[in-house]
Amino acid sequence: MSGGVDTNNKQEFLIETDVLIVGYGPIGAAVAALLGKYGIATTVIDRAKGILNMPRAVGMDNEGLRIVQMAGLSDTAFETFCVNKTRMISQHFGEFAQFNMSGVVNGHARQVMYFQPELEKALRAQVKGYENISVLHETELLSLNDNGQSVRANICSKQRGQGQIQAKYVVGADGASSTVRKILGIEFEGKSYAENWLIVDAKNLPEMNDHIDFYCGSNRPGPHLPGAGDRQRWEFMLTADDCVDEMEKPERIKELLSPWGDPALMEIERQAVYQFHARSCQQFSKGRVFLVGDAAHITPPFLGQGLVAGLRDAANLSWKLAWVLKGIAAPCILDSYDEERRPHAIHMIKLAKFLGFFIRPASELQAKLAHGAVRAIRLIPPVKAYVDGAKLKPEHHFSSGLFVKSKKRFGMHRVGAKPGELFPQALVRNSIGKTLMSDDALGEHLSIVGLGVDPHEHLSIQDIERWQSMGGNFLKISQRSQHGDTESYMFEDLTGDFIPDAAHFGKVLVVRPDRAVVTSGDVKDISGMIETTQQLLMDGCNNKSMFRKIYEKVA
Ligand SMILES: Cc1cc2nc3c(=O)[nH]c(=O)nc-3n(C[C@H](O)[C@H](O)[C@H](O)COP(=O)(O)OP(=O)(O)OC[C@H]3O[C@@H](n4cnc5c(N)ncnc54)[C@H](O)[C@@H]3O)c2cc1C
Repeated sequence: MSGGVDTNNKQEFLIETDVLIVGYGPIGAAVAALLGKYGIATTVIDRAKGILNMPRAVGMDNEGLRIVQMAGLSDTAFETFCVNKTRMISQHFGEFAQFNMSGVVNGHARQVMYFQPELEKALRAQVKGYENISVLHETELLSLNDNGQSVRANICSKQRGQGQIQAKYVVGADGASSTVRKILGIEFEGKSYAENWLIVDAKNLPEMNDHIDFYCGSNRPGPHLPGAGDRQRWEFMLTADDCVDEMEKPERIKELLSPWGDPALMEIERQAVYQFHARSCQQFSKGRVFLVGDAAHITPPFLGQGLVAGLRDAANLSWKLAWVLKGIAAPCILDSYDEERRPHAIHMIKLAKFLGFFIRPASELQAKLAHGAVRAIRLIPPVKAYVDGAKLKPEHHFSSGLFVKSKKRFGMHRVGAKPGELFPQALVRNSIGKTLMSDDALGEHLSIVGLGVDPHEHLSIQDIERWQSMGGNFLKISQRSQHGDTESYMFEDLTGDFIPDAAHFGKVLVVRPDRAVVTSGDVKDISGMIETTQQLLMDGCNNKSMFRKIYEKVA
């Protein structure tokens, strides 16, 4: 499929495409890379010529890395630097809290530092490889008209003048000041912080640290973070008396950085002054138009979760669009994008605001009380374990959406094996002895995963074909050293993350392409699980279909 059919005439051009993505920042690029993988004809427009080189995201968690992997990027596609912990330092008490950032979660480092323009470059390189994606730079969205069957976008291209794009669906990935959001008339609820922050990226610094320090208090609070590529990042809160132009001058920046080394040797790479915001839309979609990334939600960067939240949107929405456009699923499944993503995005924003309260307390008294209280409650061992283990961060689990809602764990005893949770990822070995990440074994499919059991052996040919026609594949994951698995869909669990950590031998799970579990149970119920998943794809959401069933009975 091509990225769009161009029926050019001299005055105005018209492009027809399945999906129009407005905005080629990191999130627009991630959606494009995923749709590229799913084979969907997509056109991307961006008003800018190239990648924005501003000091923005530097931190990414394991979940962000997993989605970047899903989008097709290898481990080495962009440079990362692993951090061990975050320390919260009070002007009065010294370190009053710390969060563990070390270890591996679902196959990736719990937290890495990186350089946002490098990630964007890598995503764009990935997109370039897909014939079904075309990208128009220096092309701005002017207006949208959703007629219920398709969406017409009026655009203005620097090279080609005014034109139109007709798309079946539109994804607004056009950042915090989103034109798409404004056209849809969706409120961006929340607050903007009154104060400005000076962000500085510098190189050539004497000491490279392996952790993040947050200097908390009312006197110029802010974090100091290590970065990829020999960089370090500082964020300084400005006071009402600071003149922004003065603060951005190299002499003033070097003065601010002097506690960390000889300013004469430092290279200031980039600096910018930002105001932080904590906002989210009341709805992430309207008709055939969807909002992702900063267009849908924006958070103060205290948790390093803004871009990661956008990646979660990209993973959640892209496969649903693909399944609908391929005719495998009904358009109503797209309602679950807002239902699944919005609560978690809002939860993250609230947590960032909560952390912000400790970083930038309004007064010295508030600083003493807040920091002292945290220090005191950390004396209680279970509280300390909770805080230090960074357990405050909400898991990306859905309370409702496109999965079979069930209170039972079906013998699935680990987080990640229950419907609505994210399936674990770990190293597996295939039948010819190659070690790979389990998500790469799942591929871009709906998957039935048998733990220690071969799903094929419990299904009729008709069920197998039915599942494959739904974009499904099958995997068998066996215990380590259980030999005899010779088929290409058979894998050995090298770490024990699946058996017994996720579930017992003999259990089966249905896993979505974004790795959320749809349903799980005993292998004897596998045929019913295919039936349920198909119903879900056609009904959109089990809650709604149940409601419909009750309604039909009553009516
Ligand atoms: C100081 C700071 C630190 C941060 N730190 C982190 C961090 O550590 N970790 C993290 O996860 N996140 C962090 N973030 C957030 C992260 O940078 C953003 O969440 C991310 O860049 C959002 O990506 P996006 O693609 O949604 O939007 P953007 O990157 O803003 O991209 C939007 C694109 O849309 C284009 N566009 C806009 N309007 C139109 C139009 N009308 N027509 C065509 N194109 C249009 C723009 O040119 C742009 O290319 C930080 C942000 C800041 C400011």
